[in-house]
Amino acid sequence: MRHFAIIGSGPAGFYTAEALAKAFGEQARIDIIDKLPVPYGLIRFGVAPDHQSIKAVAKRYDKVADDPQVRFVGNVAVGEAVSIDELRGLYDAVILATGAPHDRALGIPGEELPGVVGSSAFVGWYNGHPDFADLDPPLDGANAVVIGNGNVALDVARILSKTRAEFAGSDIVGHALDALEGSGVRTITFLGRRGPHQIAMTPKELGELGHLVAAAPAVDPGDFPSIEEDEALDPGLRKSVSHLRAYAAAPPAGDKPKAVAFDFFAKPLAIEGEGRAERVLVERTRLDGGRAVGTGETYAVPADLVVSCIGYSSPHIAGVPYDDDGGKYRNDRGRIDDGLYCVGWARRGPSGTIGTNRPDGYEVAEQVAGAMAPGSDGSKVGGEALDALLGARGVKSTSFADWRRIEEAETAAARPDSPREKFVRHHHWLEILGH
Ligand SMILES: Cc1cc2nc3c(=O)[nH]c(=O)nc-3n(C[C@H](O)[C@H](O)[C@H](O)COP(=O)(O)OP(=O)(O)OC[C@H]3O[C@@H](n4cnc5c(N)ncnc54)[C@H](O)[C@@H]3O)c2cc1C
Repeated sequence: MRHFAIIGSGPAGFYTAEALAKAFGEQARIDIIDKLPVPYGLIRFGVAPDHQSIKAVAKRYDKVADDPQVRFVGNVAVGEAVSIDELRGLYDAVILATGAPHDRALGIPGEELPGVVGSSAFVGWYNGHPDFADLDPPLDGANAVVIGNGNVALDVARILSKTRAEFAGSDIVGHALDALEGSGVRTITFLGRRGPHQIAMTPKELGELGHLVAAAPAVDPGDFPSIEEDEALDPGLRKSVSHLRAYAAAPPAGDKPKAVAFDFFAKPLAIEGEGRAERVLVERTRLDGGRAVGTGETYAVPADLVVSCIGYSSPHIAGVPYDDDGGKYRNDRGRIDDGLYCVGWARRGPSGTIGTNRPDGYEVAEQVAGAMAPGSDGSKVGGEALDALLGARGVKSTSFADWRRIEEAETAAARPDSPREKFVRHHHWLEILGH
């Protein structure tokens, strides 16, 4: 028998469990450990609540969850409740699938001011992550700035723009829905250091901005290179740029109270304000060989709320070598050390879609299998010993069956126009389970 511990129950963790179960057949026992009592990582806490069809990918993981060889061991933070070295002693291989939950710092003066939040926190707040339930972002001012030109920035701007009715069918948490309905935000400005040809926004998501009930996108026609230059772009990016060109050409939408403005060639220098964020000081840039270089011209963008969407890093865990530049674990194609591997965002850094994590999980499972003599038996004891260790420490873990009970309770508590009302507090989850 071979025992495997996967740390993290996001897409990378599930795809790796699926791959290991296929590679080792009945000879595998797989524990998917997560610090939260509920599974799915960013599918639950990252992907936008109004993108239910994408969140539905979690249903595909049910097959993995139903496999008797696979257990979910939730409510167990690795590095706190149990160490990596302890897990390495208990399992034949330990695979880190912790994702990259920490916001990268902006590295500019003023980022510690109240009103400046990272996207992990802001997205976690509207998606019901327990760490951010009390974030209470300031929505009283008229101006929000979103730093970044990727899909996370788009999610944040769209969520800030929607009316209550536009959230029908989403699973946005009640506290965020109420706060957003009372929001005073009227202008949402994207700041991006480069231009329309350098965005990392995908066409479908960018196209949604053109269909908002109360907000209209605003793009400066002067920001584009010649239209002939669009021909050299990848088809996806070309389509995104064509959305931007359409927004730039559209007449001002006088009847919509909110604007989502694209400020290209804009490098944030500092966030300023008396005791809270009031404006972002920005330097105009120009492109030099694809890089943004400052022109020396500066101006201020009013900002009562600043959400930085500039990337993420993986958590440091004692006993795991870390690549500070990449914000991920130091690894060679997923291998960190004998019996220690990483997958997903913990391996590659925060890029790619949910599906990108699948081949990643399979490749690492192949490496794990390749490192073990075929048909050989391991000497490790696996999950039983973990349970004993956790029991001795008073840690109450949650199982897939517990998750199903939580899911049923969330579905039962749903608002009329929502598939579920997510519980956002640890104690609430554990109360449902009678822990
Ligand atoms: C805001 C946002 C929106 C996105 N929207 C989309 C989208 O619409 N479509 C799309 O294809 N992709 C989207 N993505 C990307 C997608 O979510 C990622 O590709 C994917 O979630 C990465 O999977 P992962 O398993 O590596 O990490 P994660 O999904 O982050 O999972 C990591 C898991 O590890 C657990 N963990 C972390 N540390 C520990 C620890 N010490 N002990 C135990 N457990 C731990 C976490 O609780 C979490 O459950 C989005 C990402 C973000 C941030």
